[in-house]
Amino acid sequence: MSKSIQSLRGFNDVLPAQAALFRRVFTTAAEVAARYGYGEIRLPLLEATALFKRAVGEVTDVVEKEMYSFDDRDGVSVSLRPELTAGVVRAGIEHGLLHNQQQRLWYAGPAFRHERPQAGRYRQFHQVGVEAYGMAGPDIDAEVIAFSHRFLTTLGIGGLQLEINSLGGSEARANYRSALIDYLSRYESELDEDSRRRLHSNPLRVLDSKVPRTREIVASAPQLADHLESESRAHFDGWRQALEDLGIPYQVSPQLVRGLDYYTRGVFEWTTTELGSQGTVLAGGRYDNLVSQLGGSPSPAVGWASGVERLVLLLEKQQSAEVSADAPQLYFCAIGETAERRARILAEELRNQFGGLRLSLNAGGGKLKSQLARAERVGAAFALVLGEAELARGAVQVKSLRQTLPDQELPLSELALRLSALLPAA
Ligand code: ATP
Ligand code: MG
Repeated sequence: MSKSIQSLRGFNDVLPAQAALFRRVFTTAAEVAARYGYGEIRLPLLEATALFKRAVGEVTDVVEKEMYSFDDRDGVSVSLRPELTAGVVRAGIEHGLLHNQQQRLWYAGPAFRHERPQAGRYRQFHQVGVEAYGMAGPDIDAEVIAFSHRFLTTLGIGGLQLEINSLGGSEARANYRSALIDYLSRYESELDEDSRRRLHSNPLRVLDSKVPRTREIVASAPQLADHLESESRAHFDGWRQALEDLGIPYQVSPQLVRGLDYYTRGVFEWTTTELGSQGTVLAGGRYDNLVSQLGGSPSPAVGWASGVERLVLLLEKQQSAEVSADAPQLYFCAIGETAERRARILAEELRNQFGGLRLSLNAGGGKLKSQLARAERVGAAFALVLGEAELARGAVQVKSLRQTLPDQELPLSELALRLSALLPAA
């Protein structure tokens, strides 16, 4: 036998039990988006490589070493999207959605980065994100954070921390940049290799290093907060006021920066301690220069993106005992050809009668014992049993599989009515 082909490293299959959680994340996002008046945007997976170079920044990890880029058959350099904001801005400019307008948008879908795979970090992953264009804040900043808070709490994910920081405008950043380079240069030989390389090209990214010694050095670095110009400071105070008004607890983290170059002013992250160094589950901030950077007329923008796999990992940890939301309520066992034919008709009738009913009909025959074992394996709440004897009596047996309840026999003539009393418990 030849060796079977395996999936690519960092590209995951999502099997049914997990797929139910993925779907919960996506439907929750859609529901919360509707409640805040955000419209969905769906974008191509493949874009011109130039788009990401211009949007994300040439000297970011993402563009320097994580993109899946290749020349297509026409010789055009294209890339699988490493994030979705660049595409949203590209589409917004292309369709005239941004010029002198306000737009509230959300998206969900896969993104691709050639990183070292580990728990919570993959090469194909999924993001849910929101973006608001044409509003300078801080009222809209407060809205997108409130949205993120409601999204996470509706999912039932607890124990997260909200960290916020301000990166200031371009002048403050330039001043801070030179102060930071002065400070870090004193420790140059002790920095990790990536940070040494970034020291002059992109020193703010050194603040985001995950290498322990670099982190120690960074801990006493000069702080951006001391370099903010008054406008950014006022904007940041507006954020803090809004969060306090809404009762959303937060913490100011002076070292918080983002991995993509387009962020300005306020940035934020929702983090957990449950996923090791993959602790950021949702991250965002302002990117007021991005639209003009991509050739549109200037438009302020704010948004966030969350990592769906990390949310799913937390849902699995926090609700591990829960039965999959997709598990059938009923598993219909039928023994013998006549019973099978009758069961097939009854199953369709029940599906017609109960809109949301989840019913799995046994297929491929088998003894009652093995049919009941299948019912348990799929996590059904009740098994319906129809055999020769039941058929003769015009009845069906109901066995409870998740709770210890006595077996019941329901007359076939009243099956729908009697099941409607049972199902709410399933
Ligand atoms: P990190 O610091 O964890 O690398 P990042 O700053 O690169 O994250 P963003 O570009 O801001 O991440 O993406 C938003 C969110 O997408 C992250 O907070 C995270 O939850 C998720 N994410 C990013 N990269 C990956 C990945 N390779 N695998 C799974 N999720 C990811
Ligand atoms: Mg990253």
